[in-house]
Amino acid sequence: MLKPIVLLRNAGKELQALRSAEGLLGWDQETFMPSKGGTARAESQAALSTVLHQRLTSDALWVLIENAAAQPDISDRDRALVREMRRDIEKARKIPEELATELARTTSLSQQAWSKARAKNATDEFLPWLEKMIALKRREAECLGYSETPYDALLDQFEPGSKASVVKPILDKLSEGLAPLARRIVEKSKAPGVASWQGKKADLETQRRFNETLLREMGFDLEAGRLDASAHPFTQGLHPGDVRLTTRYREDDWLYAIFSTLHEGGHGLYEQGLPEEEWGTPLGEAVSLSMHESQSRLWENRVGRSRSYWERYLPLAREYFGDALMATTLEELMSQVNKVQPSLIRVEADEVTYNLHIALRFGLEEKIFSGQLEVRGLADAWNSGMEKLLGIRPKNDTEGFLQDVHWSCGLFGYFPTYAMGNLYSAQISAAMERELGSLDVKIKAGEFAPMREWLRDRIHKHGREFPAAELLHRATGEDLNPEYFLKYLETKYL
Ligand code: MG
Repeated sequence: MLKPIVLLRNAGKELQALRSAEGLLGWDQETFMPSKGGTARAESQAALSTVLHQRLTSDALWVLIENAAAQPDISDRDRALVREMRRDIEKARKIPEELATELARTTSLSQQAWSKARAKNATDEFLPWLEKMIALKRREAECLGYSETPYDALLDQFEPGSKASVVKPILDKLSEGLAPLARRIVEKSKAPGVASWQGKKADLETQRRFNETLLREMGFDLEAGRLDASAHPFTQGLHPGDVRLTTRYREDDWLYAIFSTLHEGGHGLYEQGLPEEEWGTPLGEAVSLSMHESQSRLWENRVGRSRSYWERYLPLAREYFGDALMATTLEELMSQVNKVQPSLIRVEADEVTYNLHIALRFGLEEKIFSGQLEVRGLADAWNSGMEKLLGIRPKNDTEGFLQDVHWSCGLFGYFPTYAMGNLYSAQISAAMERELGSLDVKIKAGEFAPMREWLRDRIHKHGREFPAAELLHRATGEDLNPEYFLKYLETKYL
């Protein structure tokens, strides 16, 4: 008879096989699916997700967990596996099927309503959906349970173990440091104006080859993954041997795709670095969204926006895009790559002002779920917050609180992981540099293997064995410290 832990691993593999099939359908929908395939795709996805939910909440699986947990002689890693799987299953079992169905349906409709409202700046058409979404998320939070505030239950879905009372002081401290720093940097830097290559055609096939070359150089294995195009760049890991990345191109701007590619490439290295033998168990999954985002921001910003990176790759870019880069100097390129300017749209924000966008969203989410802010007052609260943090005010809600898709799909508690990812990334880079020596020397030489292996060894290969905060401590020797991020910006920009 097979040991309980072996039976549990086998069950996990089967669940993951279904999840990967679901992931592949989702990836295809965003990349190659013909537009008339949408209805059938939704049916396939709904059917798969029902099967997944039933299996995850089945009594048979619960018995396997109990049996495995009762074994006295299992290893520490297997104990972590049981702990994390139990966590996932308990969460799924707390949500009544009726609520899960209602959430799925309303999410889909609300997202469609958001998309239309945003396109024509018709806030009133979206507000009733947002109210519905918030009410459902409140119910979900009550089902899941929490120790301090309902918002904690939502945060915990993306950053296990996190709480508003932990995140808030960190983001407050960060904003206090960032707002004046951003002002000093903006005053000091002069606006670079329109780039010399703007409007010069960069053939899409050439761009694709160049972006793939950059991925290959950082160590992303293109035989264990792909790069395609989609409206919103993302990473879909199906298995360490099959990691799908997307980016987006502009035919009149060769640089536009690069930072999305490097960002997703960082996510992709994490997915390829997860231990293959643990596929189907939590030990083969990324630990949290913040940690995932730290990997993407590290390659996008610390590496990709460094001078050393472009000392190496501008000459190569010239070989690919010849004419478009005739007039471009390294100085000009660097001033475009590191342009700092308060802006209204989060996804276009520079690395200095970006976290202020997150602080604004977190503050509003917290107020909504503690009952201090009504949906009707959201636009005003948003606009005043922008003015206070960044000194600019949206002219309409499309530039304001309608800009991001997250709230329409009920993704409350998600935004803080973007900011935490930036903080993790700076702390991880600093630790890596202490141990490996100057990162810029390596970047300029194109020696990315030591960095990649360091990240694999300290972070990727552990999966969910340790909670994110503990993993960060093990990797860097200390608890989360936002000073690294502020110091990184100061050194780079002042
Ligand atoms: Mg990301």
